Amino acid sequence: MDPFNKQEFLPIGLKHWFEENKRNFPWRQTPSPYAVWVSEVMLQQTQASVVIPYFEKWMARFPTIQTLAAAPIEEVIKLWEGLGYYSRARNLHAGAKFLVDHHQGELPSDPKLLEKVKGLGPYTIGAILSFAFHKKGVALDGNVARVISRLFCIEDPIDTPSVQKKLRAKVEDLLPDTEPWVMMEALIELGATVCTRRPTCAACPLQEECRAFHLGKAEQLPNKKQRYSTTLLEREVLLINHEQEFLVQHHQGKKVMSGLYEFPYFEKGQSHSFYPGKLGHLKNLKNVTHTFTRYRSQLFPSLWIAHERREIEGFQWIALEELNKLPFSSGHRQILKNLLEDHAHLTY
Ligand code: SF4
Repeated sequence: MDPFNKQEFLPIGLKHWFEENKRNFPWRQTPSPYAVWVSEVMLQQTQASVVIPYFEKWMARFPTIQTLAAAPIEEVIKLWEGLGYYSRARNLHAGAKFLVDHHQGELPSDPKLLEKVKGLGPYTIGAILSFAFHKKGVALDGNVARVISRLFCIEDPIDTPSVQKKLRAKVEDLLPDTEPWVMMEALIELGATVCTRRPTCAACPLQEECRAFHLGKAEQLPNKKQRYSTTLLEREVLLINHEQEFLVQHHQGKKVMSGLYEFPYFEKGQSHSFYPGKLGHLKNLKNVTHTFTRYRSQLFPSLWIAHERREIEGFQWIALEELNKLPFSSGHRQILKNLLEDHAHLTY
C-alpha cells in the first residue's frame, strides 16, 4: 500500500495540526473571493506579518471590487507603497476594472473565466477556488512545493515546468473530497511555519510519512535549477531643491516602476551634469540600501540647491509638503523620510 495515500494520513494528522496551529489573519475571518484575491496577491513575495496592516488599510479604503475599479491608479499605487512589486497593485486595479466591465464586479468561480482576469495565475486561481469557493483548487506556491518535494523526496529541480506539473498532480491527489480547502490551506501553513527552509521536523505532523526526513535529506531539498546571484547597484541620488520644491521624476508607461516617483539618480561614478543650471552642494544624506528581486541597490543621496529653476523633460518640481502624498519606490521613500527628518534642522 502506498504510504502516501491521502486517505492514510493527511486528513488526520495534518488537519488536526492545522486546527490547532492555524494563525489568525484578517483575510481568514471573512474569506470572500475579493478578500482572498487581495490577500493572496499581497502575500506573494511578502511575509504575512508585513501584509496585515496593508490588507486592513486596503479593505477599509477599497471594500469592494467596484470601489477599487473606480479609484484612480495613483491612489492604488500610494496605498501599496512599501509592499514592492508594484505590478501586483496595477494588476489588481486592472483586474477590478475588467470584472466590473464583464462580471458585474464579481469574481467568477469558473477557472477558465478567472484566467482572463489580469494578474491571476495558477496559484491565485487555485487559492480563490479553494478558500473562497470551497472547490478542489490546487494552490502551489513556494511553500507547498517545498513540502511536497520533501514529503515525496523529489530531487529534480522544482523550478522546471515538468516538476511543477508533477508537484501540482501530487497536491491534487492529496486533497480529499471532503473539505479539500482545509487541506490546501494546511499545506500552505505547514510550509510557511514548520517545513521552512530550515525545517523543524520535530514539530511536524508529517514526520512519520516524510521520505526526505527518513533519508536525512530534508534540509537539502528542494533543489532548484536557477540560482541567481545578487547584482549590486550603486546609485547617486540627487535631491535638487529650489525654493521649497524638489525635482522628481514620475515613471510612466509599462515599466516596473510605472506610477512611482523617484528623485533623479545616476550610476555611481557617472556624470550628473543633466541639470541645465548651477547647482550648489548642500550636504550628503544618510545612505540607503534597498533590495528588490535579485538586485541590491545602494543609494547615496545628496542635497543640492538649484540657483535657477529649470524645467527638464520627464521631471516635475513638487513642493516638499506634497512629496509625502506621492507614491515613491521603496528606496527613494526611505530617502524622503530621512530628508523630512533632517528638514527641521536645514536652512535652504
Ligand atoms: S518532516 Fe520535516 S521535511 Fe518532512 S514535511 Fe515535515 S518539516 Fe518538512
